[in-house]
Amino acid sequence: MSIKENLNDITSRLPEHVTLVAVSKTKPVTDLMEAYNTGQRIFGENKIQEMVEKYEQMPKDTEWHMIGHVQRNKVKYMAEFVNLVHGVDSLKLLKEINKQAKKHDRVINCLLQIKIAEEDSKFGMSSDDAKALLTSETFTSLTNVYVTGVMGMATFTEDSTQIETEFKRLKTIFDTLKNIETDNCALQTISMGMSGDYKLAIDCGSTMIRVGSSIFGHRNQ
Ligand SMILES: *Cc1c(COP(=O)(O)O)cnc(C)c1O
Repeated sequence: MSIKENLNDITSRLPEHVTLVAVSKTKPVTDLMEAYNTGQRIFGENKIQEMVEKYEQMPKDTEWHMIGHVQRNKVKYMAEFVNLVHGVDSLKLLKEINKQAKKHDRVINCLLQIKIAEEDSKFGMSSDDAKALLTSETFTSLTNVYVTGVMGMATFTEDSTQIETEFKRLKTIFDTLKNIETDNCALQTISMGMSGDYKLAIDCGSTMIRVGSSIFGHRNQ
């Protein structure tokens, strides 16, 4: 199936409260344009340099989500245009995003990445870390970042019971954290679910799915 057919297939079944991020990492701009011409506006990349290169070539109403692990020294390259940073896992990183956003007179939306997987390889904060961060004075003083939700990645496994447990864990953590109110946070987004598990993720409360290979086909890298 073509990118257009894949996209239409997914979006036609998506509940209205769920946002689709088309994960275009490693794919050429011609593929992104095919998705764009089908109506897709939100694209997710996991490398800042690659996202910058595509940003420069794509129409200006494209929205860019950084879904990968963010290195602090590279935040400056995306601060001018990034719409949502999914993988925020420390106050240090938030402070850097705040600093770079200020230079461009912007407020950058961020999701806190929560570790929900049993696997050690996945990044993310514990529920307690996230709570401590959101209630800290340092965080409250950051005027150029806005925390709009949480993001999580399930264990890479065929075991859907385990994946379901991990997704439900993120929903529970979200429900506790969303009671925290500051001038720079209002949690409404749960970013969870990829090509293999987004339907399950939606059943578990996801409001934002990150889908790559089911739209663009398999990646070589
Ligand atoms: C690559 C990636 C995805 C998309 O994965 P697919 O299985 O191709 O849908 C989603 N989230 C993150 C963080 C990724 O790095």
